[in-house]
Amino acid sequence: MMSKCSIVPSPNEVQLFHSLNGIQRLAETRRFKAWFLDQFGVLHDGKQPYPGAIATLEKLAVSGAKMVVISNSSRRASVTMEKMKNLGFDPSLFVGAITSGELTHQYLQSDRGAISLEGLGLQVVENVEEAEFILAHGTEALGQPSGSAHPMKLEDLEKILELCATKRIPMVVANPDFVTVEARALRVMPGTLATKYEELGGEVRWMGKPGKIIYEEAMKMAGVDPTDAVAVGDSLHHDIKGANAAGVESAFISCGIHAAELGLNSFGEVADISLVQALASKFDARPSYVLPAFIW
Ligand SMILES: [Mg+2]
Repeated sequence: MMSKCSIVPSPNEVQLFHSLNGIQRLAETRRFKAWFLDQFGVLHDGKQPYPGAIATLEKLAVSGAKMVVISNSSRRASVTMEKMKNLGFDPSLFVGAITSGELTHQYLQSDRGAISLEGLGLQVVENVEEAEFILAHGTEALGQPSGSAHPMKLEDLEKILELCATKRIPMVVANPDFVTVEARALRVMPGTLATKYEELGGEVRWMGKPGKIIYEEAMKMAGVDPTDAVAVGDSLHHDIKGANAAGVESAFISCGIHAAELGLNSFGEVADISLVQALASKFDARPSYVLPAFIW
């Protein structure tokens, strides 16, 4: 069922979104030629697909929709599709994937202006003094010149960032997420480090949602205009604000990363509309549709 909800937070600001139980009605209107799908919190939780997600993708494909995975994962697109396949998703249902890691790889390959690199022969250095930029793609370890990773606490990584900020070393963030849902637990992600770095006065190049670049690449991949696409995601800051900035309509999945804030305890539980509205306003995000999960 589709119903229109109108909530008036202030006399000047009327916000509208449609509440849906699943995507069937919307998919069957064929209103959107392309669907841009977030993976973590929408299709799977990092360990397993959400109930109904695989069947929903199959039905959406039958409706003729072109589907692109858009993800803030620091993995390359091909690795992401391989992981999706291992989780039970059929890669042939998708036109492809655009990931933060893929965008970062391309950026480091093509942009040798501010950052001087020889191709992608990246050399990890021992001292901050020798570094030309910081590549943030994790939060639990520091890369070593040997190629290994030295486990490190977040507080200690932040101390290194303080030193980097005084040296004005730019950061490229290859996964702008703040946290991720992993089997229902929240884990800190590189976006948190990048925010800290900006607070310290550091310069950050955000290579993913909510940046427009990931939506533009997805539109290119699917061959559609913004008006022909809808982006589905569970993060108001990343997925919904990103879609807003790119001029793409969006569907907010409430049982993902914001589930606890919305008082949701079980998969598929329907969120209170006024709570969704209040949370969306807090993030300055405007979803076109709101639904509990990526279900048909
Ligand atoms: Mg997500």
